[in-house]
Amino acid sequence: PPDVEELGRSSWTLLHSITATYPEAPTANDQSNVKQFLGLFGKLYPCWVCAEDFQVFMERNKVRAESRDEFGMWMCEAHNDVNRKLGKKEFDCAKWEERWRTGWKD
Ligand code: FAD
Repeated sequence: PPDVEELGRSSWTLLHSITATYPEAPTANDQSNVKQFLGLFGKLYPCWVCAEDFQVFMERNKVRAESRDEFGMWMCEAHNDVNRKLGKKEFDCAKWEERWRTGWKD
């Protein structure tokens, strides 16, 4: 079975990278695509307890993807929900784009 930590790091890289390349002004179709993708991702993610909690998170916090920034912030909040659960430090979501799209300045 996959290593839950390694799987997690590569999965967050994929998920945040998807938000980073998402259009600034998405069409209705773009928005529908990410909702379908995340719905299926939540069902197929190969760590079952993770997948279950992620589905609960999405039930309580509907995917927001009316712009790149909104989607990036939503993903950051989803990741922070897991960070809290695991007792990790919360990430400052004001910095999501710097981390995943434009690159740190130092
Ligand atoms: P990660 O949490 O993997 O983060 C990678 C990098 O992302 C960090 O170094 C940081 O630069 C950046 N980052 C951190 N937080 C944020 C944020 N909020 N927004 C943007 N960037 C950020 N593990 C479990 O043990 N139990 C679970 O239930 C569980 N559920 C998961 C659910 C999902 C959907 C995913 C994708 C992963 C889940 N994981 C779970 C894995 C867990 O989240 C971590 O990936 C894993 O513990 C490795 O952590 P890490 O400290 O190396 O960094």
